[in-house]
Amino acid sequence: MAKVESFKIDHTVMSAPQIRPAGQLAGPIGDVVSKFDLRFVKPNNKAIPTGTIHTLEHCLGFLMRDYLDKIIDISPMGCRTGFYLTCFGDKSANEVKSARVASLEKIGKMTIGDVPGLSAKECGNWKDHDFPSAQACALEVLQGLLR
Ligand SMILES: [Zn+2]
Repeated sequence: MAKVESFKIDHTVMSAPQIRPAGQLAGPIGDVVSKFDLRFVKPNNKAIPTGTIHTLEHCLGFLMRDYLDKIIDISPMGCRTGFYLTCFGDKSANEVKSARVASLEKIGKMTIGDVPGLSAKECGNWKDHDFPSAQACALEVLQGLLR
């Protein structure tokens, strides 16, 4: 059975918010893909409600690309305690942190009309969004990152 990096990490001692390099892979022609754990809340202590994390996903997928190049994907963790970010290149946790801080600051200044992809045509569960809660979560995590 394949070894999954996340299952080797002791989630009972993990702090949040934090950014943790979660591995790199090199492709056959030398491209490097980096993966990061963008933890928002402490595992097994709190989980982000689905509407909240869904709206954060829409906002981060849009905003993080303004501050960090060559992003492949940013997706919510199934445990709803954070996101995984994958990107091309050998990025540092500090580069990812700067992009995350800038993105969360922007979410703090957004209105619901600024959230991308909220229509049934653009989203697979468009009714499951909670912008006020996503904005409050973003600001709370931002405070933790800047502490
Ligand atoms: Zn969606």
